[in-house]
Amino acid sequence: MEFKTKVIVITGASSGIGAATAVRFAKLGGLLTLVGRNLEKLNETAEKCLAENGQQALVVKADVTNEEDVKLIVDQTLEKYGRIDVLINNAGIIENGSIEETNLTQYDRVMGTNVRSIYQLTMLTVPHLVKSKGNIVSISSVCGLRAFPGLVAYNMSKSAVDQFTKCVALELAPKGVRVNSVNPGVIVTELHKRGGMDEETYKNFLEKCKQTHALQRPGNVDEVAAAITFLASDSASFITGVNLPVDGGRHAMCPR
Ligand code: NDP
Repeated sequence: MEFKTKVIVITGASSGIGAATAVRFAKLGGLLTLVGRNLEKLNETAEKCLAENGQQALVVKADVTNEEDVKLIVDQTLEKYGRIDVLINNAGIIENGSIEETNLTQYDRVMGTNVRSIYQLTMLTVPHLVKSKGNIVSISSVCGLRAFPGLVAYNMSKSAVDQFTKCVALELAPKGVRVNSVNPGVIVTELHKRGGMDEETYKNFLEKCKQTHALQRPGNVDEVAAAITFLASDSASFITGVNLPVDGGRHAMCPR
């Protein structure tokens, strides 16, 4: 697996799964565009990437829900590298709320970040992926494959990512562009705390992973990054339209 001369755009590279994925691609020689809103944390990821492969990543401060910012991601990447080989649609948010507790502002916020932004960035990137015969990996969730109560907008958003993945895979297959997603179970990152969970609740949530995941633990960011880099690599050259669970077996479980 190697990505020397490959240009890889990663959204949400300032934290968690996106940051670990950036470092792993850097280790494999990739040329990176790192996207997020927190410039300080993006620069921290860029430093780690530089230490891996001696290449200065392009850092783009962008809010993926802002259409002009999304255009900048593509424009600045082409300006620096002249091509795009891999798009990693990773930026995302989680919010709790059942149908009795939610509201349309929450729906718009979650769908805007987790779905609409992917739709726009993919639309803008595809012409360049067609030229490079590149590929896309989007970060969905076990919540796209299975239903959980109290998280309706998030679950819907991740199902949309899965269907988007399969539809676009079929559309682009004749052009030699592969499109896949990974569907992580609980992974230790900032996501849930940023979504409103306090420290105590988060601690209990991780403890409960012993029951909610067949492998009896939460996952870590490197385990997801490994699946992402595999799907983006030539080792996965005959894989497209896949929603790959990286969830310690959670997708296969059923309450009993
Ligand atoms: P983190 O909260 O650690 O990271 C989220 C990343 O998304 C940050 O880099 C953040 O960047 C970025 N982001 C969020 N909103 C925006 C925005 N409007 N514009 C630009 N960037 C944005 O969470 P994870 O690493 O866990 O999450 C990454 C992906 O993995 C998400 O799609 C999430 O749904 C998915 N996932 C996570 C699981 C988990 O248990 N952790 C399980 C299943 C899926 P910044 O703050 O700089 O804007």
